[in-house]
Amino acid sequence: MIEHAIITHSHIDHMGMAPWLVGHMGTVLHGSPLTASVSQIMWADTYKVSRIEGYPLAWDRRDMDEALQAWSTHQLGEWFEIGAWKCRFHRAGHIPGAVMVEIETPELRILWSGDMDTRASPNALGAVPVDCDVLFLEGTYGNRIHPPRIEEEERLVRKVLEVADRGGTALIPAFASGRGQDILRILRREAPNLEVHYHGMGVGITKHWMDHPESVNDPKGLSKTWRWCRRVSGKSDRRKALDANAIVCTSGMLDGGPAIWYANRLRHQGANAILLTGYQAEGSGGRLLLDEGKLRIFGEVTPIDLEVEQFSLSNHGGQIELTSFARACSPRHVVIFHADEEGREALEPLLTGEMKVHLPPNQTEIILE
Ligand SMILES: [Zn+2]
Repeated sequence: MIEHAIITHSHIDHMGMAPWLVGHMGTVLHGSPLTASVSQIMWADTYKVSRIEGYPLAWDRRDMDEALQAWSTHQLGEWFEIGAWKCRFHRAGHIPGAVMVEIETPELRILWSGDMDTRASPNALGAVPVDCDVLFLEGTYGNRIHPPRIEEEERLVRKVLEVADRGGTALIPAFASGRGQDILRILRREAPNLEVHYHGMGVGITKHWMDHPESVNDPKGLSKTWRWCRRVSGKSDRRKALDANAIVCTSGMLDGGPAIWYANRLRHQGANAILLTGYQAEGSGGRLLLDEGKLRIFGEVTPIDLEVEQFSLSNHGGQIELTSFARACSPRHVVIFHADEEGREALEPLLTGEMKVHLPPNQTEIILE
């Protein structure tokens, strides 16, 4: 029986099963007001895609409606109680509305990081360490050292300008919640004369962000960016976007969404380019494009004869951010989660000695002495 679930942020790998919890166990969902607000779009999209693509979902529409009523929201720094535990949220960086949770049990102080980054991104301020006894730390990029963010941002802008100068359009696939809005802000800041169109689920998500300025880094800058970019809604907007300097749209790994429609149109003009803005998972469209210069377009594997470039604009801390964050929290134990084997194993020797490092495989119990 799960009576309470703390949802750290609105990415679907962190909240996708919440309607099932609520529908089957009447679980109370705790989160930031912005996470609760964005959940509606995330769940509705998951539901829609599962119907279109015919994959089974563990929950139905009624569970989703119940889940929307199951939120108990808390502001940053505000204590709330779950049984004998006292909890409060801290900013996690990563995306607007993302939180880490500090839990004070009668014996221990625990910090659960969720997905986090200590570096500020254009839309989210970075996470700040919290003193604790036990730290649960994400390790997504535990084996990678990020290039300096500002250099990657400048490299992206230079490439978009180069494509625009030769008369092309840069297609920039980006995640709906975080990366897409970051790219819009970078482009407006560095090259306000560009004509940039924005399309996909991120458009709806950004409206929620603007309703929660307390969760956004420089909310005025976001509103200005919103007015500056051209949002695509209808079919004629789509065609107009084909003449823009850049199109920022979902999906970030070229697995569907408007990005595929645009790629299919843009692929015939050699001046165009596809600029990938993050990690491309094994088996994703973006991975196929990088490895073989092909994309699955409406079911057909199609050669793409365009310039393709990849940029590292992650909103997860890399090895340096994760290890300095862990040290600054000065825990006795650190438990690494949300990491593949390489990520976990890279962090272990860097932290061992200063704290006890635990790398539990999924579905195993560990006892902290
Ligand atoms: Zn996330």
